[in-house]
Amino acid sequence: MTRLSIPSFKCMLTEAGMRRNVIKSGRSMKFIFIAGLLSLASTLKAESDFANINVMTDFPGGSAVVNDIDRNKGVIHISPPIQTERGWPCWWYCKVDGVIKGQTITFQLTANTGVYRPNRVLSANWTQPDRAAISVDNVTWSQTEKCVKQNGIATYMVEAPAESFWLAWGPPFLPSHADEVLETIKKKLPHATLFELARTRDGRSVRGIRIGSDSKTDSHRYGVWIQARQHAWEAGSSWVGRGFIEWLASDDQAAIDLREIAIIYYIPIMDVDNVTLGAGGKEAVPRDHNRDWSDTPNYPEVAAAQKRILQLNSEQRFDVFVDLHNPGSSERRPYFFGPMDIEKLPTIQQQNHALWLAISKNSISGPLQLEPGYKFATYVRTEEERNRMSANWVRNHTAEHVLSTTLETVWNTPHSTQKGYMTVGAQLGQVVSRYLGSNPRGSEN
Ligand SMILES: [Zn+2]
Repeated sequence: MTRLSIPSFKCMLTEAGMRRNVIKSGRSMKFIFIAGLLSLASTLKAESDFANINVMTDFPGGSAVVNDIDRNKGVIHISPPIQTERGWPCWWYCKVDGVIKGQTITFQLTANTGVYRPNRVLSANWTQPDRAAISVDNVTWSQTEKCVKQNGIATYMVEAPAESFWLAWGPPFLPSHADEVLETIKKKLPHATLFELARTRDGRSVRGIRIGSDSKTDSHRYGVWIQARQHAWEAGSSWVGRGFIEWLASDDQAAIDLREIAIIYYIPIMDVDNVTLGAGGKEAVPRDHNRDWSDTPNYPEVAAAQKRILQLNSEQRFDVFVDLHNPGSSERRPYFFGPMDIEKLPTIQQQNHALWLAISKNSISGPLQLEPGYKFATYVRTEEERNRMSANWVRNHTAEHVLSTTLETVWNTPHSTQKGYMTVGAQLGQVVSRYLGSNPRGSEN
């Protein structure tokens, strides 16, 4: 346990002995000897307190470069790693072991300023949340106190909640969580269908669930597609998705109504590969997942989603597409990305967007309260690239009345927790239910 060796003890005794030669008073000698022992005891304690600290990342989604562990002072310093061709180096998630419950650990986080793609370095904002996520059991997550940012280092003072605990950019949501949610929903709604959307480029399963009949004679039913996590680091979006699907399976009357009138497809994690590897995913090679919605997608899960959506559309039973994301660090309220040039869209679609926004404003009411209007992806420079984003591709390839959008749920606030995200998801469910209850197909229906 202790790192202080016997020779050090001797050394301190010798020092005390030397002092004995110059101090004539026996009382003083005694005092110094006791003070020395006390000092030795406190040194022993201080060193042993942190002596066994370790940081681990060898589990699904785990991600950190350990820059330093100061076992004298209890300071851990990490950065997210660059994973070649795996996108933004912003996601981090580690387990801290060998601490003593109640002791204060200084957790320092520095952004990775390496080149993750030719000529591209990521701003620290994406890596350093004001409050990190912390968990004792790797299941329930809370937030640390707000960090202090200085000279590029974000410092979080953490009171160790147990001998080992987990720290992360935000509450992780892994394929194991997705499986658990899907199985739970299936048990609750036996008529729901679990399916494999695709196998990823690396051969992993992308799973989803369909709630409602898939019968072609059911064309009067509305069709809804909700997906999360095209960007692997945006773990919060998967918690929003979980909130949505658990609400949909609940006994809330609006959920029961929605299950009666619609077929709902839900994909908890699209980029399963990068989520499993603990990579950021955004701007990965060969393409950002959400710029891959072209006629020749690289990602099998994108191709499979396109195929199913086109099929539903051709059977005249497709109505709503929502892609779930997390935005930039300075955003404080969730918002939808709307279509550019909305005034050029068919009249029925314009009306549907107005209706969707009005319902959303009422339903997504807090604690993460929706921005009242749409925002627009003006940072995407060309129309060609914009058309390769999921919501735009869906809008361009489906019927005139279809409502296709992206929900960006903020991650850098005190309410950006499992509970806060899931509340937004449940509220999104209310939006979909009320929206479809208002006959968005208009005269087509
Ligand atoms: Zn995103």
